[in-house]
Amino acid sequence: MRIPDAIGRNGPLYSFEFFPPKTPQGEENLYRVIDSLRQLHPTFVSVTYGAGGSTREKTVELVCRIKHDIGIETMAHLTCVGADQAEIDAVLRRLTAAGIENVLALRGDPPRDQPTFVRPANGFGFASELVGFIRRQGYPFAIGGAGYPEGHVECRDREQDIRNLKLKVDAGLDFVITQLFFDNEDYFAFVDRARTHGITVPLVPGIMPITNFGQIERFTAMCGARIPDALRARLAAVAGDDAAVRRIGIDHATVQCRDLLARGAPGIHFYTLNQSPATRAIFERLHAH
Ligand SMILES: Cc1cc2nc3c(=O)[nH]c(=O)nc-3n(C[C@H](O)[C@H](O)[C@H](O)COP(=O)(O)OP(=O)(O)OC[C@H]3O[C@@H](n4cnc5c(N)ncnc54)[C@H](O)[C@@H]3O)c2cc1C
Repeated sequence: MRIPDAIGRNGPLYSFEFFPPKTPQGEENLYRVIDSLRQLHPTFVSVTYGAGGSTREKTVELVCRIKHDIGIETMAHLTCVGADQAEIDAVLRRLTAAGIENVLALRGDPPRDQPTFVRPANGFGFASELVGFIRRQGYPFAIGGAGYPEGHVECRDREQDIRNLKLKVDAGLDFVITQLFFDNEDYFAFVDRARTHGITVPLVPGIMPITNFGQIERFTAMCGARIPDALRARLAAVAGDDAAVRRIGIDHATVQCRDLLARGAPGIHFYTLNQSPATRAIFERLHAH
């Protein structure tokens, strides 16, 4: 199934994002998590592509296994980091041969020891170049790309960031999944900016339930997302109490999801961090009558 064909059919799209575990125990845990979340009937699940292309093999292996052995539709993330065109082409060929129909085409973050992204020799400098390459090579994938409600960390001018997104969409994107955000007004303003700039593809909001205060502070600092003051104050007040942080995180994400869907978002992409309880809890609340 190509993801764009599922958008707007049979209710909102729901997807769960996982990362390839580094250890056999992590992998065992991931399959338990997938088993628990499959009961929620996601539209698809996606598997990230580790920094520096470090999980290339694992990403391909996992999407194939989840699609063919477990029977859930998948999307493989793919980045431009540390790879030339021939290496990226080889991954795309493997995905095609394995019957994978959806790819999230990303530039990727610079490796830790590099302050800025450097175009690999014979490689791509922007996600739009990767998208154009996939299209020119004639691959049949549905292609998603990343969008940033608060602007990308390297481009805090939101208008410019949207113009860059338009270039990426024009290169052949079918849909966009957003970076995590905690204030829905950022998402709706992003949608308005995108529509004003002639971007018509679906813009799927990405939601990360907060389960750990320290972790979310690190993530948001890295990806440039803002924790609204009122939410930060609620979290800070219970910072040592993990269960209370989780409760606040689940409450906040549930309110966000309800509002997003009520105001026309095409679905929700959950950043699960390879854990099921928070996503499950939100899902159950969304579907409680
Ligand atoms: C849903 C989602 C999933 C992700 N999954 C992964 C993953 O699996 N692995 C991973 O490593 N990272 C992942 N990321 C993070 C992503 O790789 C980083 O945010 C990265 O820094 C930018 O990637 P991009 O594809 O958005 O890049 P691009 O779209 O290329 O944008 C990068 C920067 O360049 C600017 N730009 C774009 N085009 C131009 C141009 N023509 N001229 C000048 N400036 C331009 C943009 O404004 C932006 O600041 C994910 C992000 C999201 C939102």
